Amino acid sequence: MLIIGSHVGYKKDSGLVGSVKEALSYKANTFMFYTGAPQNTIRSSIDLNNVKEAYKLMEENNINKDNVIVHAPYIINLANGDESKFNFSCNFLSEELKRVNKFGMKYLVLHPGSHVGEGVETGISNIVKALNLVLSKDDSNVMILLETMAGKGSEVGKTFEEIKAIMDGVNYKNRIGVCIDTCHLNDAGYDLTNFTEVLNTFDKIIGIDKIKCIHINDSKNILGSHKDRHENIGKGAIGLDTLLEVINNPKLKDVPKILETPYIDGHAPYKEEIELIKSRSII
Ligand code: FE
Ligand code: FE
Ligand code: ZN
Repeated sequence: MLIIGSHVGYKKDSGLVGSVKEALSYKANTFMFYTGAPQNTIRSSIDLNNVKEAYKLMEENNINKDNVIVHAPYIINLANGDESKFNFSCNFLSEELKRVNKFGMKYLVLHPGSHVGEGVETGISNIVKALNLVLSKDDSNVMILLETMAGKGSEVGKTFEEIKAIMDGVNYKNRIGVCIDTCHLNDAGYDLTNFTEVLNTFDKIIGIDKIKCIHINDSKNILGSHKDRHENIGKGAIGLDTLLEVINNPKLKDVPKILETPYIDGHAPYKEEIELIKSRSII
């Protein structure tokens, strides 16, 4: 069965219940949320009664919690070796893993980071050091999913080889997976019109079984542009047919697909986009 949803909000007052309700309003059977604003460190305490109520709502509506994704805030940058920034990022990631565990979710999507001029190799070694440090002190089973990036600025993780190099350095193999993002892949230069080949390449370098989440976005920019500007489904450089190739790929059947497409005139496009995708889905 197609597992599809979108990014949804998480608000202090309505908590996870509010997030589930938003997902249901889009007729989604999964969703992704940030545990607070992605650009700051303010996090409210988790109301476990609210979480319990959210789980009840999920069960009643066939949302499997193992398909629900949490996205780490952008302010975490494990690639930056500057001591105070590095420590800040490690501490915040530790806290975030604890929060995900408290919510009872399984996956935390993380942007690997930007090397801010230090070079890719230094960036990768900083990320590896950070992940080993954080995971050595974390006793949850939450899996960190490294997201494939567009290669904007000094972003690390724009190629499968870079992601693989990070994974190779991490000592806690069962705690690391991958989230592929179609907009990022396009912008990084992976031609999705030949998705079979892209997936084969991924399989050879990393292994398809490591893909635990897919972000489904069209792109405002052409192949290899290194821009990272998401576009609505079917309205961008990738196009609906190519996105459907990804969505309908039998090898990725059980992987949750999450839309992060932009709002249109202040309105979430997800209900319509999910409906469109479902109407063309063969899995
Ligand atoms: Fe992301
Ligand atoms: Fe993404
Ligand atoms: Zn993006």
